[in-house]
Amino acid sequence: MAIQSTNPMTGKVEKSFDEYSSAETSAILNSVADAYSTWKLSSLEQRADCLRNLAVLLRERADHFAELMAAEMGKPLKSGRAEVLKSATVCDFYADNGAAMLASEPKTVDGMQCSVEYAPMGTVLAVMPWNYPVWQVLRIAVPTLMAGNTMLLKHAPNVPQCALAIEELFRESMFPENVFRTLIVGTGQVEDVLAEDSVIGVCLTGSVRAGRAVAALAGAHLKRSVMELGGSDAFVVLADADLDKAAATGAESRCSNAGQACIAAKRFIVHNDVYDEFVGKLKERMESVPMGNPLDENTVMGPMASHQFRDNLIGQVNSCLKAGGKVVCGGEVPEAEGAFYPPTIITDVPFESQAGRDEIFGPVALVFRAESEEKAMEMANDSAFGLGGSVWTSDVEKGLRLARQIEAGLVYVNGRVSSRPPLPFGGVKNSGYGRELSTYGIREFVNVKSVCIG
Ligand code: NDP
Repeated sequence: MAIQSTNPMTGKVEKSFDEYSSAETSAILNSVADAYSTWKLSSLEQRADCLRNLAVLLRERADHFAELMAAEMGKPLKSGRAEVLKSATVCDFYADNGAAMLASEPKTVDGMQCSVEYAPMGTVLAVMPWNYPVWQVLRIAVPTLMAGNTMLLKHAPNVPQCALAIEELFRESMFPENVFRTLIVGTGQVEDVLAEDSVIGVCLTGSVRAGRAVAALAGAHLKRSVMELGGSDAFVVLADADLDKAAATGAESRCSNAGQACIAAKRFIVHNDVYDEFVGKLKERMESVPMGNPLDENTVMGPMASHQFRDNLIGQVNSCLKAGGKVVCGGEVPEAEGAFYPPTIITDVPFESQAGRDEIFGPVALVFRAESEEKAMEMANDSAFGLGGSVWTSDVEKGLRLARQIEAGLVYVNGRVSSRPPLPFGGVKNSGYGRELSTYGIREFVNVKSVCIG
């Protein structure tokens, strides 16, 4: 696949990049391995200082990154800036808290003085997607670098300018040379990179298909892996829910980033007693999302990241309709130039159908009717995915009890699912394994080492 920036507003290629040759990749791998030999010895204070510099630069360059994201994958400027500012908070958080998460833990065992240490291991490869081109990279890079590892980025092929700008950012943040490098390569080189002794693991965010392929490679080479894959989050609305708040949050979650988010609300499971009222309110909210040019400051929803992704979405909507789905709003491709797809609600898709089970990566909400609370919970868990989910009820105690029953990595009661620097992020089932962020994330790529004085 060509590595090029194609503007989803015009369909025109704006920049094209030659893939690095295997010799170029190999030279970068060697420099990153060299950088590791000194970075692993750096103090936690030094690493925290670099992260603080990175946060400053990110904030300074928020506009620049927002423009790049708008041009490469259609993200509205306002959302792009917010993504960059959120990425700065991950730097702040690990600069302030990373040392405590990595501090050795003394223990007395059988009369011996022992400690558990969290030692760096080498270079980690990050295989990243295009939907949050800055946040997803920083979310894995910051804790991994704080732990004393070095990092290689293989970004999605449609966001090469973001990938190179992130590399530049690390360089200018006073990180030692080659602690973080971008590889402009296709999937063909991923196995060679993983096979290198200096590369100790891989973290991938993307589709189940990509996850299976890369996890298999990691297994073959006995490398650690963390997989952040797709999701089809349940948004469970009970009869006693605040329907206005639920509809507003549901529409925001489904339409944010033009629906291209792994933790977007995707399967709306609504109690029979409030079904019609909720669908009406959701329709009102979905129809009022301002869609337009990502460069317009008033735009909330831009085009999809490419015309190809929109074609895939149209195919999925057709499958939903063929299965018996009914369009409540949206569902028609606008005439305007650009890979736009309108906020859409589809009801009556049979819950058991494949169309109702697939992840929909676009602003299309599938609404299902549940006859009872028990049935709603059963439906929420009847999915191959288990990334996030939410429960909407005015009884918070009940909400918590039900949230604990949802088979997913993060569940909110009366709130929009989102990733936050102090909380572990990741899924179960086909949504992947391992965790990013928090103490759990920072320790995914460390050698948990017992040291004892005999
Ligand atoms: P992909 O999973 O195809 O791509 C994500 C990353 O994985 C890219 O860098 C891609 O590179 C790489 N990749 C894919 N296949 C392989 C492979 N066999 N070996 C090594 N690397 C690989 O996502 P898409 O961009 O095609 O998006 C499609 C679907 O992915 C969505 O419908 C959604 O389900 C899911 N997705 C989930 C995300 C999440 O946040 N969990 C984010 C983005 C997508 P390359 O393109 O060069 O192959």
